[in-house]
Amino acid sequence: MEDLGKTMQQLMSQQHLNDNYRQLMAKVYDDPLVRQFYEAHQAELADDVLTRSAAKLYEFVSEREKLAKGGATFATGYEPQLVVSNHLIDVAYVPTAETQEKQAEQRLRQRVKSIAMPKSIREATLKAFDQDSDRAEALMAALDFIDAYEASPKRRHQALYLSGSFGVGKTYLLAAVANQLAADGFSTTLVHFPSFAVEMKNAIAQNGVAEKLDALKKAKVLMIDDIGADAMSAWVRDDVLGVILEYRMQEELPTFFSSNFSMAQLENEHLRISTRGDDEPLKAQRLMQRIRFLAREVTMVGVNRRPQ
Ligand code: ADP
Ligand code: MG
Repeated sequence: MEDLGKTMQQLMSQQHLNDNYRQLMAKVYDDPLVRQFYEAHQAELADDVLTRSAAKLYEFVSEREKLAKGGATFATGYEPQLVVSNHLIDVAYVPTAETQEKQAEQRLRQRVKSIAMPKSIREATLKAFDQDSDRAEALMAALDFIDAYEASPKRRHQALYLSGSFGVGKTYLLAAVANQLAADGFSTTLVHFPSFAVEMKNAIAQNGVAEKLDALKKAKVLMIDDIGADAMSAWVRDDVLGVILEYRMQEELPTFFSSNFSMAQLENEHLRISTRGDDEPLKAQRLMQRIRFLAREVTMVGVNRRPQ
């Protein structure tokens, strides 16, 4: 193997090179990463690579210098890397560690699709939830679900119906489960149901009902937050909620719920009575059968954790 230092000396002593260029390239050929790369790949490289790839080596060293100074580089978020290309040296731009981290974070975020949910759900973690023993049963049930689902995502898994008063952390727990599933590579859709119902009504005019409905019907894991918080029209109950749940039951897709009502209350005080005031116990019963098939009720107790 030819000695790099000697080759360089020869290169640099060539008469036709002017001083400026010589100084510039002396620094480039002296760069530890350039030397390392050259030594590691010499066998694959053309004999005259140092002259023919001089511009690329210069680009590599100067872009790295800019990066080290915190300046803007040729491609923001990317850093130069030396590669062998056709027996010569070329520069490839690869995402920096920071960029890779951001990209991973983005992919993670994309796994939690939320419809009309507060932004703060991003921060929810099971770890933080752990600190509270009041709601241990709900937490254990959530952890059991995650274990079972992740072990065999194609099988049927009964999810949870979290009931409990305002502010006990039902939404927080759902979000923490969704974030954990995302970290493990699984997608979840979280929907604030009362807001979704309004969106659906508006979608009628724009012919967008089927599409919006489909997104929830087919979500890998669906979490219906705050069911029962607003009075439901017969249309929302039967043609929106009913249709979503029927599909998910048939396809055995995991579906969570959270509500200020217990299951019994939801059936008797909420689903039975349509906004028109009709009492429809059979329709309520049918809907509850689907909910019970999909989820098991866990009551959460504890203090209201909302900032007062
Ligand atoms: P619910 O949906 O039952 O009405 P939330 O999930 O909205 O209650 O929780 C109420 C508030 O308390 C929210 O601001 C939430 O972020 C916070 N919170 C709930 N549980 C926890 C927890 N374990 N750790 C930290 N904050 C929590
Ligand atoms: Mg809530």
